[in-house]
Amino acid sequence: MITFDNVSKEYPDGTAAVRDLNLTIQPGEFFVVIGPSGCGKTTMLKMINRLIRLTKGTILIDNKRISDYKIDELRWNIGYVLQQIALFPHMTILENISIVPELKGWDKEKIGRRVDELLEMVGLDPKTYRDRKPKELSGGQQQRVGVVRALAADPDIILMDEPFSALDPISREKLQEDLFTLQRNIKKTIVFVTHDMKEAIKLGDRICVMNEGSIVQVGTPKDLLENP
Ligand code: ADP
Ligand code: ADP
Repeated sequence: MITFDNVSKEYPDGTAAVRDLNLTIQPGEFFVVIGPSGCGKTTMLKMINRLIRLTKGTILIDNKRISDYKIDELRWNIGYVLQQIALFPHMTILENISIVPELKGWDKEKIGRRVDELLEMVGLDPKTYRDRKPKELSGGQQQRVGVVRALAADPDIILMDEPFSALDPISREKLQEDLFTLQRNIKKTIVFVTHDMKEAIKLGDRICVMNEGSIVQVGTPKDLLENP
């Protein structure tokens, strides 16, 4: 469970990016944050894994303040997928995905099994792709690897910042469907940022609408469609 208790973020230049957020995200929930560019979505995400400091308030994960976790413990338990996935170009797909599981001390065999299973789930044949370098994959395939990398070490939480917005419409739709199915199977907590309402409605258990750093509305897709 992720709890925002009166959280605000002001950047050093005085920009109030996020104001007095109060919010609870349930375990296993697919939680979508939507709003126009600059409304504070990325700031909100980055505060959860402590890439950005809070100015005010508290964020709790499973009722423990994020500041009370060791940073490794926190980051290893939170997968992170960005709009433009940055895989290490000199490393193979397998090596890229294995970074956090290795840090966690998993043995090679366990990592191999896990990676193959996840590649399979996102529609990449492990035998074909495991030993390739990132540049031998299309943008959509690299983005799939990004999702696998975020899931590899079995985190409880996955943060996704417009993970599909750089893709062509067909790859995007396919990946949305795959992620939807994947989420319903693995039941991880996902916080997913987008500015695309269609995507939000398709994926979210609940949708949080933001504007100028504040929450405007939180509800199920049905709530939002009935009371826009
Ligand atoms: P979104 O993800 O919704 O596009 P952001 O969280 O990136 O919004 O940004 C929220 C606001 O904070 C915007 O006005 C943005 O310009 C500002 N902002 C983001 N990062 C910084 C920063 N490092 N320094 C100053 N202002 C920032
Ligand atoms: P987004 O895809 O969320 O709109 P941006 O292109 O706004 O991302 O921002 C990219 C990066 O630049 C982010 O890490 C954000 O924190 C930072 N950033 C955004 N706005 C500002 C700003 N006004 N000053 C400094 N850094 C910023």
